[in-house]
Amino acid sequence: MADISQSVCLNHPDTPAVTRCAACGKPICEQCIVESNGSRFCSEQCAENAAKSYDRVTAMAAGKARAEKRSSLRAVIIVIILAAIAAAAYYYYTNNKKDVDRLVRKAEQKVNQKIQKAGKDAKDVKDDIKDNVPGSSKYKRDREKMVQ
Ligand SMILES: [Zn+2]
Ligand SMILES: [Zn+2]
Repeated sequence: MADISQSVCLNHPDTPAVTRCAACGKPICEQCIVESNGSRFCSEQCAENAAKSYDRVTAMAAGKARAEKRSSLRAVIIVIILAAIAAAAYYYYTNNKKDVDRLVRKAEQKVNQKIQKAGKDAKDVKDDIKDNVPGSSKYKRDREKMVQ
């Protein structure tokens, strides 16, 4: 940007400019300055445009701040809920330790039964295969019975 002391007012070519419009950067003299919100503009139009974009920027910043506040509030709520669940679970466990332990043991037993049963099923299938494979004694026996 050129030194403002070298410029003349765009509205008054004989008058040296003292500043530039805060919106469009036009050099302006003392007489032409339009003061608005602590900034100096060349015209009401520029002051208005600047105010509008300032509003937009502050609105955006406010929206962003609101969104950030919302998301941090959400995080806090989630932490509180998790803490409450953990506390409730701990409280429940300490007050019903026997019940919980019994439930756990029961579940373990069930799982073990299932595993044993699964093993037994697998064994049954194996026996089945063995009995029905040609060459096995049972297969031969059955065949002989059928032939007679
Ligand atoms: Zn301007
Ligand atoms: Zn001027």
